[in-house]
This record gives sequence, C-alpha cells and structure tokens, in this order.
Amino acid sequence: MNTSMKGFILGFFLFTSMFYGQAPYPKDYFRLPLDIPIVLAGTFGELRSNHFHAGIDIKTQQRQGLAVYAIGEGRVTRIKVSEWGYGKALYIAHPNGYTSVYGHLQKFSPEIEAYVKHVQYQKKSFEVEIFPEFSELRVQKGDLVAYTGNTGGSAGPHLHFEIRNSASEMPTNPLLYGIEVRDATDPTLLGVYAYPLSENAQVNQSEEKIKLTYRRQSDGSYLADKVTALGTIGFGINTFDRQDLAANQNGIYSVKQIVNGKLYTEFNFETFSFPESRYINTLIDYNHYSTYRERIQKCFKDESNLLGIYKTIYNNGKIEVSEGLSYNVEIQIYDLAGNLTKLVIPVEGKLEEIKIPKIEEKTDNFIIAKRPNNFDLGAAKVYFPANTFYDNLYIDLKNGMDTVTIHNNKVPVHRNFTITFDVSKYSVEERKQLFIGRLNNNGSANYASTYKRGTTFTTRTRDLGTYTLAKDSIAPQIGPQNFKDKQWLTNYSYLSLKITDDLSGIDTYNATLNGEWILLEYEPKTNTITYNFDDLILDKKQCDLKVVVTDNVGNSSTFTSTFYRK
Ligand SMILES: [Zn+2]
Repeated sequence: MNTSMKGFILGFFLFTSMFYGQAPYPKDYFRLPLDIPIVLAGTFGELRSNHFHAGIDIKTQQRQGLAVYAIGEGRVTRIKVSEWGYGKALYIAHPNGYTSVYGHLQKFSPEIEAYVKHVQYQKKSFEVEIFPEFSELRVQKGDLVAYTGNTGGSAGPHLHFEIRNSASEMPTNPLLYGIEVRDATDPTLLGVYAYPLSENAQVNQSEEKIKLTYRRQSDGSYLADKVTALGTIGFGINTFDRQDLAANQNGIYSVKQIVNGKLYTEFNFETFSFPESRYINTLIDYNHYSTYRERIQKCFKDESNLLGIYKTIYNNGKIEVSEGLSYNVEIQIYDLAGNLTKLVIPVEGKLEEIKIPKIEEKTDNFIIAKRPNNFDLGAAKVYFPANTFYDNLYIDLKNGMDTVTIHNNKVPVHRNFTITFDVSKYSVEERKQLFIGRLNNNGSANYASTYKRGTTFTTRTRDLGTYTLAKDSIAPQIGPQNFKDKQWLTNYSYLSLKITDDLSGIDTYNATLNGEWILLEYEPKTNTITYNFDDLILDKKQCDLKVVVTDNVGNSSTFTSTFYRK
C-alpha cells in the first residue's frame, strides 16, 4: 500500500470516528464472559443513585455459581474483596488496551482463590484489594476465572460486567464490542415535562415545570398537545428501555432534541468518566426524583452540569420562545440496537395569564454554591466547602438539643461537607458510647462515620437531613447458625454464624480456631459470617472456636464454642 493510500484510510477512519463520535471498538476481539444467552438486568449508563451504571448487569438465571470466563487473554491486574460495592471483583487487562471487570462474584477460580486467600490470611482481613505483579496471574481467552454470585451491593444473582479503557480508566459500553442482545423493542416513554427556565418564562400558563399530554400517532410516534410558551424553556423525559427477553426496565442509549430541524441536544452512553459520574444529579430533575422516585432526564444542560456525554449541545439545549413564532420540537430516544421512540412537541410563542406562579422557598441563609460556607448552629458547626452544591440555594438550617437539621433531601450534594458536634458536656466515659447518627424516616439514628478528637465529634457526609448525637451501649449479638456447641462436625464444609448490632452497626469481626486466626466471609445482607473448613488443616480432634465482634463505638462481644472433627 502506498503512503497516500494509508493517508486516505487513516483520514477516513478519523472522519468516521469523529462523525459517529465513537472510538473504533474491536467487535470480534473478545468472547462472552458467560456461556449462557446474554439477558440484561441493567444497561451501561443506566441512571442510578448518584452515578451512572458503569457496566452491564447480566442475568444469571436466578442462580449463583455459573462459570465466568476471561473474555480475552491478559493478566489479572486487580482483585478486590469488599462487603459493599462490587463485592468480590476481578480486573483483567488485555493487550489491546482494554480492561474487563467482573463483579458480585461468588468466588474466584481455584488458582485465583488460593492467591486471594493467601493474602487474606497474611493481612488477617476478609476485605482486601490486591494488585498482582505483571507475570503473576496470566489468563488465556476463555479461561475459567470466577463464579457468578451476589456479593456486595447486589440485590439478586447477576454478573456485573465492564469494559474499561485501561489507560484512561473510563468505562465504555460493553455492547459496543459485539455482544448481542435480542432487542426489537422500542424505548418506552413514561412522561414528558416542560420547564420555564428564564426569569418570567412560562409554559402552558405555568412558571413551574409542567407535565405535557401526548398521544400515539398511527406511525408509532407520539404527538404532544400544542404547548404555549414564552421565554427560555426546556424539556425533560422520563423513559426506559426494555430488551426482548426480559421485563427489566433498563436504560436507553441516546437522546436527540431537534428544534425546527436543528440539532440542539445529543447525548449518549458510549462512555463517561468515574469522576464525572455524580453529575448525573444535574442531568436528572433531582427535586422531582427525591419526591416521586422518577428520573426525568433533561434535554437541556444546567450551568453546573459538567458531564461529557453530550455529542452536540446548542444553546445548552434551551429553546428561546418569542411571541408569535412557532417551534417544532422533536425528541428522539434510541436504545443501543437503534430502536427509536419519537415525540413531536408543537410550541407556540404566546404571552398568557399565569395560573401557576413560581414557588420559591426563601430562608435566612442564602448559599453561593461556588463559595465555601460556614454555619454555627449551636449544637453543631457545619462547613460546606466550595461546590458542595450544584446550584445556589436558600438553605434551611435548624438547631435542637444535640441535633441539627441541614435542609432536606430534595437538593443534591456533590461534595462532602462536615458537621462537628461539641461533646464537652459529656464525660470521657459517656463519649465512648456516643456517635453521630443521621435520622431515618422511622426516627431512629443510622451510624454516620464519627471521627472523635477530644471534645469534638466530626462526620463528613453528602447526605442532607437531621443529625443527632446517639448512644449505643449494647454490644453486638453472635449466634451459631448451622452447628451447636460440643457437636461432631466431621462432614461439615463450613461454619455459619449470625452477627447483628442494633444501633451503631458492626465494625470488626475476628475469629480463631485453636488460637489461629481464621478467615470469616461477612455478608451484611444476611448478617452472616462464614468459615470454610478447606482453609485450615486441622490436626486436632477438638476445635475451640472464638469469635469477637465489635460495633462502631467499640462495644464488644465474644462467642466461644467447642466442636469435634475427625
Ligand atoms: Zn451492575
């Protein structure tokens, strides 16, 4: 091939990748991580609490223990075992520049499992994060690497699967690599809303957001009833996508908003970065979400929205409506298979009498979001670093006996802020059992990580609400689940115990068998700790088990039991 030909081909690829806004993802390089048909319980970019879903959730037929295969050759670069989040997770870096991630695993393949257990016994900890050396754990395409499970923050058996760009660590949409999911179903439109955005803007005689009515047309698209408006307005949609083989309400792939034939907005879930993920709180109507648990995605972009998912954004997706003019707004919602749901909204510029005026709740304290803000509420001091909030707001602050109320959960928080309680009126002894708690809907206090230093207790949090000093004087409870004291357990493969704590929650759990530390796997969802008899070769018939559990303020319980094995 001559150089001009190469130049042409290179230019062509640059052009197409710019045109589609997509990197040339290798379509035939990887194999599937499972040997079952791919049915999704969750899609990439799906809207979750404070983050976008960074992978796909593959259904595992309501079972655990399905074989997980390396999707390509490579080396294991990271293994994480956590009680929360991804649970047991495996990361494999491939030579083509991508890293595959497998989460909520039940256990690893025997070789990797032995490697992890060695570290766990060395560190005397169930939770570990390991970065193996370059040549330690190499895998070939199709090697068994783990078994599917339900560990960590998982609500049912499934495989959480990601493909990340190894260099940037940005997660990419795994379905762009040739994974086939049967999908001939159009995205579902649940609701459309119009937002007056500028001072004195109005939509359908309202200065507040208003829900629009629409009808299905014979061609399958939707047509909204004519909207009258004036000033700067925007639109938002509540939508989900369903694939053919399951009823799960998954996320859509892309949205376009076209005004009078001009593309105003286009965003898609090809890739995003973890640091920007929390800006999801600016893509959705957060106030609406906190009230109705419905996520409206805005087709316009707030000033505080720093998401990079926009391929096109003209006038921030906002529409300037002038008196006497007409606008044709078309919203297109696509899933990754290209199925399209289309809505047309006719807008007429018209000044009308306002029937729903703007509601603004003012308080004594106005916060400029870009600046740091300090408040001394008496019972506690509150410090908001700059950009704690996305937008300026009138903040509602209340003070009570050992209690402060910091606004309410209708406002999203981007960064941690600190609350500091003065505990000098309590004795050193009393302080031990005290902690900072956040009141839940039932009025009881959930433990907030409490840093104790002298006469001050501090917590860092991104949750608004009511915080109080609470006291935990009751030690955790420990009880055996599958055995009794003085029992013969020769044929048992594991020991299981239930551990609970009624207020501040479990902090540490440790056990020994005949004086030797043993690994306990903790599953907070079922309050269970499990010991696997394969871990330690017992050379004695009589086994003395000792389990010590502490709660977050240091109350401690000890459980002992003796059993026998041949
Ligand atoms: Zn997931």
